[in-house]
Amino acid sequence: MIEGLYIHIPFCHQICRYCDFVKMVPQKGMPSIYVEHLIRELESNIPLLTNLKTIYFGGGTPTLLDQSLLARLFEAISHRLNLSLLEEYTIEANPNDITKTLGAMFVQHGINRVSLGVQTFSPHLLTFLGRTHRPDDIGRAIQELRASGIKNINIDLIYAIPGQSIQDLKMDLNQVLGCHPQHISAYNLILEEKTILYHAYQNQQFEFLDDELELEMSDLIESTLLEAGYHRYEISNYALPGYESKHNLLVWNLEEYLGIGMGSHSQYQRKRLVNHTTFSSYIAAIDEIGLGFAHEEPYEPEIEFVMLGLRKTAGIDVDRFETLFGQPIFQRFPELKHHLATGLLEKKGRQLQLTKQGLDLANQVFVTLF
Ligand code: SF4
Repeated sequence: MIEGLYIHIPFCHQICRYCDFVKMVPQKGMPSIYVEHLIRELESNIPLLTNLKTIYFGGGTPTLLDQSLLARLFEAISHRLNLSLLEEYTIEANPNDITKTLGAMFVQHGINRVSLGVQTFSPHLLTFLGRTHRPDDIGRAIQELRASGIKNINIDLIYAIPGQSIQDLKMDLNQVLGCHPQHISAYNLILEEKTILYHAYQNQQFEFLDDELELEMSDLIESTLLEAGYHRYEISNYALPGYESKHNLLVWNLEEYLGIGMGSHSQYQRKRLVNHTTFSSYIAAIDEIGLGFAHEEPYEPEIEFVMLGLRKTAGIDVDRFETLFGQPIFQRFPELKHHLATGLLEKKGRQLQLTKQGLDLANQVFVTLF
Protein backbone atom coordinates (compact mmCIF):
# COMPACT_ATOMS: atom_id res chain seq x y z
CA MET A 1 0.00 0.00 0.00
CA ILE A 2 1.45 3.37 -1.03
CA GLU A 3 1.76 5.69 1.96
CA GLY A 4 4.22 8.28 0.65
CA LEU A 5 4.12 10.66 -2.31
CA TYR A 6 7.28 12.35 -3.59
CA ILE A 7 6.93 15.28 -6.01
CA HIS A 8 10.02 16.43 -7.88
CA ILE A 9 10.46 20.05 -8.94
CA PRO A 10 13.66 20.07 -11.02
CA PHE A 11 14.23 23.82 -11.32
CA CYS A 12 17.07 25.73 -9.65
CA HIS A 13 18.25 29.34 -9.70
CA GLN A 14 21.73 28.14 -10.65
CA ILE A 15 23.52 24.81 -10.58
CA CYS A 16 25.49 24.07 -7.42
CA ARG A 17 28.96 22.78 -8.16
CA TYR A 18 28.53 19.46 -6.31
CA CYS A 19 25.03 18.59 -7.49
CA ASP A 20 24.18 15.40 -9.37
CA PHE A 21 20.40 15.52 -8.84
CA VAL A 22 17.93 15.79 -11.71
CA LYS A 23 17.79 19.56 -12.06
CA MET A 24 17.92 22.41 -14.56
CA VAL A 25 17.81 26.19 -14.77
CA PRO A 26 14.41 26.74 -16.43
CA GLN A 27 13.81 28.77 -19.54
CA LYS A 28 10.84 31.12 -19.66
CA GLY A 29 7.52 29.27 -19.64
CA MET A 30 8.94 25.90 -18.59
CA PRO A 31 7.69 25.95 -14.97
CA SER A 32 4.03 26.41 -15.92
CA ILE A 33 4.21 23.66 -18.59
CA TYR A 34 5.86 21.40 -16.04
CA VAL A 35 3.26 22.05 -13.35
CA GLU A 36 0.39 21.26 -15.74
CA HIS A 37 2.02 17.95 -16.67
CA LEU A 38 2.79 17.14 -13.05
CA ILE A 39 -0.90 17.56 -12.24
CA ARG A 40 -1.79 15.22 -15.09
CA GLU A 41 0.62 12.62 -13.75
CA LEU A 42 -0.92 13.05 -10.30
CA GLU A 43 -4.41 12.54 -11.76
CA SER A 44 -3.32 9.33 -13.50
CA ASN A 45 -2.23 7.93 -10.15
CA ILE A 46 -5.18 8.93 -7.95
CA PRO A 47 -6.44 5.32 -7.42
CA LEU A 48 -3.06 4.44 -5.83
CA LEU A 49 -3.04 7.41 -3.48
CA THR A 50 -5.88 6.73 -1.08
CA ASN A 51 -3.79 6.10 2.05
CA LEU A 52 -1.17 8.83 2.05
CA LYS A 53 0.66 9.51 5.29
CA THR A 54 3.43 11.67 3.86
CA ILE A 55 3.92 14.08 0.98
CA TYR A 56 7.38 15.40 0.15
CA PHE A 57 8.14 18.17 -2.34
CA GLY A 58 11.81 17.85 -3.29
CA GLY A 59 14.11 19.07 -5.99
CA GLY A 60 15.69 20.91 -7.48
CA THR A 61 14.21 23.83 -5.67
CA PRO A 62 10.42 23.68 -5.22
CA THR A 63 10.37 27.27 -3.97
CA LEU A 64 11.71 28.49 -7.32
CA LEU A 65 8.13 28.11 -8.62
CA ASP A 66 6.26 31.37 -8.31
CA GLN A 67 3.51 31.47 -5.73
CA SER A 68 0.64 31.10 -8.20
CA LEU A 69 2.14 27.89 -9.59
CA LEU A 70 2.83 26.54 -6.12
CA ALA A 71 -0.75 27.35 -5.10
CA ARG A 72 -2.04 25.59 -8.22
CA LEU A 73 -0.08 22.47 -7.27
CA PHE A 74 -1.09 22.53 -3.61
CA GLU A 75 -4.74 22.95 -4.59
CA ALA A 76 -4.55 20.14 -7.13
CA ILE A 77 -3.31 17.90 -4.35
CA SER A 78 -5.84 18.91 -1.73
CA HIS A 79 -8.79 18.82 -4.17
CA ARG A 80 -7.95 15.48 -5.77
CA LEU A 81 -6.50 13.40 -2.95
CA ASN A 82 -7.87 12.14 0.32
CA LEU A 83 -5.49 13.66 2.88
CA SER A 84 -7.36 12.56 6.00
CA LEU A 85 -4.51 10.21 7.03
CA LEU A 86 -1.72 12.65 6.19
CA GLU A 87 0.79 13.11 9.04
CA GLU A 88 3.69 14.93 7.41
CA TYR A 89 3.73 17.36 4.49
CA THR A 90 7.23 18.61 3.66
CA ILE A 91 8.63 21.07 1.17
CA GLU A 92 12.30 21.70 0.48
CA ALA A 93 13.20 25.38 0.27
CA ASN A 94 16.11 27.65 -0.45
CA PRO A 95 16.58 30.11 2.43
CA ASN A 96 16.61 33.12 0.10
CA ASP A 97 13.20 32.21 -1.36
CA ILE A 98 11.39 32.31 1.98
CA THR A 99 9.09 35.24 2.71
CA LYS A 100 6.31 35.71 5.23
CA THR A 101 3.66 35.33 2.51
CA LEU A 102 5.23 32.12 1.24
CA GLY A 103 5.31 30.68 4.77
CA ALA A 104 1.67 31.66 5.27
CA MET A 105 0.76 29.94 1.99
CA PHE A 106 2.49 26.74 3.13
CA VAL A 107 0.47 26.74 6.34
CA GLN A 108 -2.76 27.53 4.52
CA HIS A 109 -2.27 24.43 2.34
CA GLY A 110 -1.41 22.09 5.20
CA ILE A 111 2.37 21.97 4.84
CA ASN A 112 3.76 21.29 8.29
CA ARG A 113 7.47 20.74 7.67
CA VAL A 114 10.06 22.79 5.76
CA SER A 115 13.49 21.49 4.87
CA LEU A 116 16.00 24.29 4.31
CA GLY A 117 19.04 23.76 2.10
CA VAL A 118 21.48 25.63 4.34
CA GLN A 119 24.65 23.52 3.80
CA THR A 120 26.99 25.90 5.68
CA PHE A 121 27.04 29.37 7.24
CA SER A 122 30.57 30.17 5.99
CA PRO A 123 30.49 32.61 3.06
CA HIS A 124 33.66 31.17 1.48
CA LEU A 125 32.28 27.62 1.65
CA LEU A 126 28.90 28.68 0.25
CA THR A 127 30.82 30.20 -2.65
CA PHE A 128 32.88 27.03 -3.08
CA LEU A 129 29.67 24.97 -3.24
CA GLY A 130 28.06 27.41 -5.67
CA ARG A 131 25.05 28.18 -3.44
CA THR A 132 23.06 31.34 -4.09
CA HIS A 133 22.03 32.28 -0.53
CA ARG A 134 24.06 34.23 2.02
CA PRO A 135 24.41 33.40 5.72
CA ASP A 136 22.01 36.22 6.71
CA ASP A 137 19.22 34.64 4.66
CA ILE A 138 19.15 31.58 6.89
CA GLY A 139 18.19 33.12 10.24
CA ARG A 140 15.74 35.43 8.51
CA ALA A 141 14.09 32.49 6.68
CA ILE A 142 13.68 30.56 9.91
CA GLN A 143 12.15 33.55 11.66
CA GLU A 144 9.67 34.07 8.80
CA LEU A 145 8.71 30.39 8.79
CA ARG A 146 8.16 30.32 12.55
CA ALA A 147 6.14 33.53 12.41
CA SER A 148 3.98 31.88 9.74
CA GLY A 149 3.28 28.90 12.00
CA ILE A 150 5.71 26.26 10.67
CA LYS A 151 6.80 24.32 13.74
CA ASN A 152 8.91 21.59 12.16
CA ILE A 153 12.06 22.77 10.37
CA ASN A 154 14.94 20.72 9.02
CA ILE A 155 18.36 22.17 8.27
CA ASP A 156 20.51 20.40 5.67
CA LEU A 157 24.23 20.69 6.35
CA ILE A 158 27.22 19.59 4.30
CA TYR A 159 30.58 18.97 5.95
CA ALA A 160 34.05 17.88 4.84
CA ILE A 161 34.03 20.65 2.24
CA PRO A 162 37.49 21.33 0.79
CA GLY A 163 38.91 24.31 2.68
CA GLN A 164 36.68 23.71 5.73
CA SER A 165 38.40 23.64 9.11
CA ILE A 166 37.20 22.19 12.40
CA GLN A 167 36.70 25.80 13.49
CA ASP A 168 34.43 26.43 10.48
CA LEU A 169 32.38 23.37 11.37
CA LYS A 170 32.11 24.44 15.03
CA MET A 171 30.79 27.78 13.83
CA ASP A 172 28.24 26.03 11.59
CA LEU A 173 27.06 23.86 14.46
CA ASN A 174 26.76 26.85 16.80
CA GLN A 175 24.73 28.71 14.22
CA VAL A 176 22.51 25.69 13.57
CA LEU A 177 21.82 25.20 17.27
CA GLY A 178 21.04 28.91 17.55
CA CYS A 179 18.27 28.38 14.97
CA HIS A 180 16.65 25.59 17.08
CA PRO A 181 15.59 23.34 14.19
CA GLN A 182 13.68 20.17 15.00
CA HIS A 183 15.74 18.10 12.56
CA ILE A 184 19.27 18.26 11.14
CA SER A 185 20.69 16.32 8.20
CA ALA A 186 24.48 16.36 7.96
CA TYR A 187 26.05 14.76 4.89
CA ASN A 188 29.72 14.70 4.00
CA LEU A 189 30.52 16.17 0.60
CA ILE A 190 30.81 13.44 -1.99
CA LEU A 191 32.44 13.95 -5.35
CA GLU A 192 30.00 12.79 -8.01
CA GLU A 193 30.88 12.37 -11.65
CA LYS A 194 29.27 14.77 -14.11
CA THR A 195 29.36 17.65 -11.63
CA ILE A 196 31.16 20.98 -11.96
CA LEU A 197 33.20 20.05 -8.90
CA TYR A 198 34.31 16.78 -10.47
CA HIS A 199 35.87 18.61 -13.40
CA ALA A 200 37.52 21.13 -11.07
CA TYR A 201 38.97 18.21 -9.11
CA GLN A 202 40.22 16.54 -12.29
CA ASN A 203 41.95 19.83 -13.10
CA GLN A 204 43.56 19.76 -9.64
CA GLN A 205 41.89 22.99 -8.54
CA PHE A 206 41.43 21.74 -4.95
CA GLU A 207 42.09 18.80 -2.66
CA PHE A 208 39.69 16.85 -0.51
CA LEU A 209 40.08 16.71 3.27
CA ASP A 210 41.87 13.62 4.52
CA ASP A 211 39.86 10.73 6.01
CA GLU A 212 41.05 11.43 9.55
CA LEU A 213 39.80 15.02 9.51
CA GLU A 214 36.51 13.92 7.97
CA LEU A 215 36.04 11.37 10.75
CA GLU A 216 36.89 14.02 13.35
CA MET A 217 34.19 16.23 11.83
CA SER A 218 31.63 13.43 11.91
CA ASP A 219 32.44 12.81 15.59
CA LEU A 220 32.18 16.52 16.36
CA ILE A 221 28.75 16.69 14.73
CA GLU A 222 27.53 13.68 16.67
CA SER A 223 28.83 14.79 20.07
CA THR A 224 27.61 18.38 19.64
CA LEU A 225 24.13 17.42 18.52
CA LEU A 226 23.69 14.65 21.10
CA GLU A 227 24.67 17.07 23.83
CA ALA A 228 22.08 19.53 22.52
CA GLY A 229 19.30 16.93 22.87
CA TYR A 230 19.08 15.57 19.33
CA HIS A 231 19.32 11.87 18.69
CA ARG A 232 21.02 10.24 15.76
CA TYR A 233 18.42 7.99 14.16
CA GLU A 234 20.16 7.51 10.81
CA ILE A 235 23.81 7.75 9.81
CA SER A 236 23.38 11.33 8.58
CA ASN A 237 20.18 12.42 10.34
CA TYR A 238 19.46 13.83 13.79
CA ALA A 239 16.14 14.83 15.32
CA LEU A 240 14.57 16.04 18.51
CA PRO A 241 12.42 13.22 19.92
CA GLY A 242 9.26 12.83 17.83
CA TYR A 243 10.58 14.85 14.87
CA GLU A 244 12.21 12.07 12.83
CA SER A 245 11.32 12.43 9.15
CA LYS A 246 8.33 10.17 8.56
CA HIS A 247 8.73 10.30 4.80
CA ASN A 248 12.39 9.31 4.88
CA LEU A 249 11.69 6.53 7.39
CA LEU A 250 9.10 5.15 5.02
CA VAL A 251 11.75 5.03 2.26
CA TRP A 252 14.41 3.55 4.54
CA ASN A 253 11.94 0.93 5.81
CA LEU A 254 11.33 -0.16 2.22
CA GLU A 255 7.66 0.79 2.38
CA GLU A 256 5.90 1.63 -0.87
CA TYR A 257 5.95 5.20 -2.16
CA LEU A 258 5.16 6.90 -5.44
CA GLY A 259 7.36 9.54 -7.08
CA ILE A 260 6.01 11.91 -9.70
CA GLY A 261 7.91 14.44 -11.78
CA MET A 262 11.13 14.38 -13.77
CA GLY A 263 13.62 11.77 -12.59
CA SER A 264 11.57 10.69 -9.59
CA HIS A 265 11.69 7.11 -8.30
CA SER A 266 8.87 4.93 -7.03
CA GLN A 267 9.05 1.86 -4.86
CA TYR A 268 6.05 -0.24 -5.70
CA GLN A 269 5.33 -3.97 -5.58
CA ARG A 270 9.01 -4.71 -4.97
CA LYS A 271 10.02 -2.79 -8.05
CA ARG A 272 12.02 0.40 -8.43
CA LEU A 273 10.43 2.53 -11.16
CA VAL A 274 12.21 5.55 -12.61
CA ASN A 275 10.70 8.52 -14.44
CA HIS A 276 12.17 10.27 -17.48
CA THR A 277 15.05 12.53 -16.52
CA THR A 278 14.91 15.24 -19.19
CA PHE A 279 12.27 17.94 -19.52
CA SER A 280 11.34 17.06 -23.11
CA SER A 281 11.13 13.29 -22.56
CA TYR A 282 9.10 13.73 -19.37
CA ILE A 283 6.61 16.10 -21.02
CA ALA A 284 6.32 13.80 -24.07
CA ALA A 285 5.67 10.76 -21.84
CA ILE A 286 2.88 12.54 -19.96
CA ASP A 287 1.34 13.70 -23.25
CA GLU A 288 1.47 10.16 -24.56
CA ILE A 289 0.50 7.92 -21.64
CA GLY A 290 -0.21 10.25 -18.72
CA LEU A 291 2.73 8.82 -16.76
CA GLY A 292 6.36 9.90 -16.52
CA PHE A 293 7.56 6.29 -16.28
CA ALA A 294 10.76 5.56 -18.23
CA HIS A 295 12.12 2.23 -17.02
CA GLU A 296 12.43 -0.26 -14.20
CA GLU A 297 15.74 -0.11 -12.37
CA PRO A 298 17.61 -3.31 -11.47
CA TYR A 299 16.77 -3.72 -7.84
CA GLU A 300 17.30 -6.40 -5.22
CA PRO A 301 14.88 -5.76 -2.37
CA GLU A 302 16.87 -7.91 0.08
CA ILE A 303 20.00 -5.79 -0.45
CA GLU A 304 18.02 -2.55 -0.26
CA PHE A 305 16.34 -3.70 2.93
CA VAL A 306 19.68 -4.36 4.62
CA MET A 307 21.52 -1.31 3.27
CA LEU A 308 18.78 1.20 3.99
CA GLY A 309 17.87 -0.50 7.26
CA LEU A 310 21.40 -0.50 8.61
CA ARG A 311 21.69 3.23 7.92
CA LYS A 312 19.16 3.66 10.73
CA THR A 313 20.69 3.47 14.19
CA ALA A 314 17.82 1.17 15.24
CA GLY A 315 19.01 -1.20 12.51
CA ILE A 316 16.90 -3.96 11.01
CA ASP A 317 14.49 -6.46 12.44
CA VAL A 318 15.91 -9.86 11.44
CA ASP A 319 12.50 -11.54 11.87
CA ARG A 320 10.91 -9.02 9.50
CA PHE A 321 13.60 -9.85 6.95
CA GLU A 322 12.71 -13.54 7.17
CA THR A 323 8.97 -12.83 6.91
CA LEU A 324 9.47 -10.60 3.87
CA PHE A 325 12.02 -12.67 2.00
CA GLY A 326 11.46 -16.24 3.19
CA GLN A 327 14.94 -17.00 4.49
CA PRO A 328 17.03 -16.09 7.55
CA ILE A 329 19.13 -12.96 7.05
CA PHE A 330 22.41 -14.71 7.98
CA GLN A 331 21.72 -17.40 5.41
CA ARG A 332 21.15 -14.81 2.66
CA PHE A 333 24.10 -12.64 3.78
CA PRO A 334 26.62 -14.87 5.63
CA GLU A 335 29.18 -12.02 5.63
CA LEU A 336 27.04 -10.18 8.20
CA LYS A 337 28.23 -12.76 10.76
CA HIS A 338 31.79 -11.73 10.01
CA HIS A 339 30.91 -8.09 10.74
CA LEU A 340 29.35 -9.18 14.04
CA ALA A 341 32.65 -10.86 14.92
CA THR A 342 34.75 -7.80 13.94
CA GLY A 343 32.55 -5.44 15.95
CA LEU A 344 31.08 -3.39 13.09
CA LEU A 345 27.65 -4.90 13.79
CA GLU A 346 25.85 -5.91 16.96
CA LYS A 347 22.61 -7.74 17.62
CA LYS A 348 20.20 -6.58 20.30
CA GLY A 349 17.20 -8.91 20.51
CA ARG A 350 15.71 -8.99 17.01
CA GLN A 351 17.56 -5.84 15.90
CA LEU A 352 20.78 -6.03 13.91
CA GLN A 353 22.56 -2.68 13.93
CA LEU A 354 25.83 -0.89 13.25
CA THR A 355 28.01 -0.21 16.28
CA LYS A 356 29.54 3.24 16.84
CA GLN A 357 32.59 2.05 14.89
CA GLY A 358 30.28 0.52 12.28
CA LEU A 359 28.51 3.85 11.74
CA ASP A 360 31.89 5.39 10.84
CA LEU A 361 32.84 2.47 8.59
CA ALA A 362 29.42 1.57 7.20
CA ASN A 363 30.69 1.31 3.63
CA GLN A 364 32.90 -1.59 4.66
CA VAL A 365 29.73 -3.46 5.60
CA PHE A 366 27.70 -2.37 2.59
CA VAL A 367 30.24 -3.41 -0.06
CA THR A 368 30.14 -7.00 1.17
CA LEU A 369 26.41 -7.28 0.44
CA PHE A 370 26.89 -7.41 -3.33
S1 SF4 B 1 19.75 23.78 -5.23
FE1 SF4 B 1 19.85 21.58 -4.80
S2 SF4 B 1 19.10 20.57 -6.65
FE2 SF4 B 1 19.56 22.70 -7.22
S3 SF4 B 1 21.61 22.62 -8.04
FE3 SF4 B 1 21.79 23.11 -5.85
S4 SF4 B 1 22.03 21.13 -4.81
FE4 SF4 B 1 21.28 20.74 -6.89
